[in-house]
Amino acid sequence: MLIDLHTHSRASDGTQSPAELMTAARDAGLDVIGLTDHDSAAGWDEATQAARRVGVTLVVGMEISTKLDGAGVHLLAYLPDPTYPPLVRELAKVLAGRTGRLPAMIDQLREAGVDISEQEVLDRVGDSPAVGRPHIADVLVAKGVVPDRTAAFERWLGWGRPGYATRYASQTSAMVEIVTAAGGAAVIAHPWGRGSRRVLDESALADLQTLGLVGIEVDHQDHDAADRSTLRSIAGELDLVVTGSSDHHGTGKVDHELGCNTTSVDQYELLLAHAAKHAATAGRGTPLEGS
Ligand code: AMP
Ligand code: ZN
Ligand code: FE
Ligand code: FE
Repeated sequence: MLIDLHTHSRASDGTQSPAELMTAARDAGLDVIGLTDHDSAAGWDEATQAARRVGVTLVVGMEISTKLDGAGVHLLAYLPDPTYPPLVRELAKVLAGRTGRLPAMIDQLREAGVDISEQEVLDRVGDSPAVGRPHIADVLVAKGVVPDRTAAFERWLGWGRPGYATRYASQTSAMVEIVTAAGGAAVIAHPWGRGSRRVLDESALADLQTLGLVGIEVDHQDHDAADRSTLRSIAGELDLVVTGSSDHHGTGKVDHELGCNTTSVDQYELLLAHAAKHAATAGRGTPLEGS
């Protein structure tokens, strides 16, 4: 049984529509796929229908932009009630921050000699509610400024580069509580990837666990073998669920093919059990898989 719990569609910054992603999941031999677009449930309905049609099990979720001690931490939220008002309010702030920083990034790029317009970026964003740097990267690629998204991040859009601007993110601790109260299961995405490594040691993870954190994503392309081994033992110490996933973005990210990392059946079942327990405690309907 192949389980991949972290992917992106065009409902954020992936390159496939939610329906195309479900077809790709089936073609890749996945049995279970988690759809975790950035800061939004916009792709859930289309994905749910498509998953049923092609015969894969869908776990709906999202990857929420949070910050802890000044570092960015991506929080995967599985099966939260997307209508829970505190979640709706906080996601609206994050999405507004995504849209709001676009003019600043464009101004900074122009000052550095790269001329793109807001409309060119918005054409890439399409009907995704989550404007992301990958959309800007795609414009830079289309205009021949850089060969691919990776180069766009390295030269122009990554932290400290000319086009970089900060944006609003929720507090990690508050968001873990909100996701849990929404009947969802909170899992830290790539805890030792980019900026978040320095703030996510064992004691920080233990603190988040007291607020409801259920697991950590251990098998991810941002982690080398040593990181995975250490994170696995921390998860064992703390009794956290261990997930593995591709963080697939269609053609937008190399080396992140569907199923390149996977989650074991027992950890997947634990994750679902946590979500079911949180939903029961909260007295909320959880958008359970396939339903
Ligand atoms: P943003 O959401 O605007 O903060 O942009 C971050 C997104 O860009 C994340 O989804 C990353 O997966 C993606 N990203 C970050 N670095 C790269 C890279 N080097 N190549 C392609 N995508 C990247
Ligand atoms: Zn992304
Ligand atoms: Fe991420
Ligand atoms: Fe991701």
